[in-house]
Amino acid sequence: MQGSLSVATTTALPVARGALVCAPDKCAVNLLDLDRRGMEAFFVGLGEKPFRANQVLPWIHRLGVVDFDDMTNLSKALRARLRDIAHITPPTVLSHQEAADGTHKWSLRLGDGQAIETVYIPESERATLCVSSQVGCPLKCAFCSTGTQGFNRNLTVAEIIGQLWVVRRSLGDDPQGGFRAISNVVVMGMGEPLLNFDNVVAAMDLMLDDLAYGLSWRHVTLSTAGVVPALDRLREVSPVNLAVSLHATDDVLRDELVPINRKYPLDELYAACRRYVAADGKIRATGSSHRRITFEYVMLDGVNDSRNHAQSLVRWLRGMPSKVNLIPFNPFPETHYRRSPQERIDRFRQILLDAGIVTITRKARGEDIDAACGQLVGRVTKRLRAASAIEFRLPQGE
Ligand code: SAH
Repeated sequence: MQGSLSVATTTALPVARGALVCAPDKCAVNLLDLDRRGMEAFFVGLGEKPFRANQVLPWIHRLGVVDFDDMTNLSKALRARLRDIAHITPPTVLSHQEAADGTHKWSLRLGDGQAIETVYIPESERATLCVSSQVGCPLKCAFCSTGTQGFNRNLTVAEIIGQLWVVRRSLGDDPQGGFRAISNVVVMGMGEPLLNFDNVVAAMDLMLDDLAYGLSWRHVTLSTAGVVPALDRLREVSPVNLAVSLHATDDVLRDELVPINRKYPLDELYAACRRYVAADGKIRATGSSHRRITFEYVMLDGVNDSRNHAQSLVRWLRGMPSKVNLIPFNPFPETHYRRSPQERIDRFRQILLDAGIVTITRKARGEDIDAACGQLVGRVTKRLRAASAIEFRLPQGE
């Protein structure tokens, strides 16, 4: 999105898509919308040196400052100017719940009244934040509660990175303290991140940026249902880990469970995944190639959890550097699916392990506050038709 910045003169104010608040006489840019390149372009547009970005980014992201007057290493004149033309506006907290297992969920209100959810999952060695990328989701996977909500729009960079910003402040402000700092981020909340490509990539750049959150690229994972063309773009621009929501290895079943399969069927997905981990695919930032892909597989009772399904998955993964996450299905009120019994999950896992595939069963976290995979709903007002909103079209007649 930073490519769309207008930086030519000091009178034409730089604008960031999705961040513009326009009054008749004034436009203001939300600085939470700008990654490092965007911030440098912003300051150059003001006739300032690009290194102002190095001064301002840590104030915003590391220290949580929203008032330009607190940015004491900037001149008074520049602070006053910024007050006139910019603002730092994160989402606001609608509610904050804590589950019995220590998982936290926030519902966040966005500027236009929509709401999204974000989940903090502490473990012994790390703490993971699961962030949303869209208001609702257009993909309508059969077993996912977010899909039943409908879809409204993509999140801005400010709204994606704002989830880290808010959770850091919220946990830090707790008088009891002692929370493990966020060490990992999974873009696995509401929405399909690859349908909001530019904003998600810019937000992930901020997650990795030492001036902002400084997370290791090994600790940031994007999960996709398989938007094939965007996978190729992602491979070129971002070093983060990739998780692919597979759930079935035959097209008839996957068409039903993950409808985007009708547009990008398994063969195409397989080829894109192979390209993703190709040894000659050097990634900007690390200079090495992506090592392996995590495949997610939701365990649905009597649907995709038989011995045959496991063997078929083993065959499908042949030659693919991979790891499998089995996700026991998390139920929600409107669903007719049921979670596979534990012994079936264990049998499925054993077949994969026997074939030499690293496989873990994901533990459901935060179930008592509806914070587990596929249970995030937020509030989607004014649903849009998915097709018109994102240029994603299923084949005729679907
Ligand atoms: N759209 C992206 C990211 C969001 S979903 C994707 O499809 O990957 C994150 C993960 O949760 C996906 O693997 C998804 O298939 C899984 N999921 C969705 N609903 C679920 C449910 N009810 N129970 C368990 N996992 C679910």
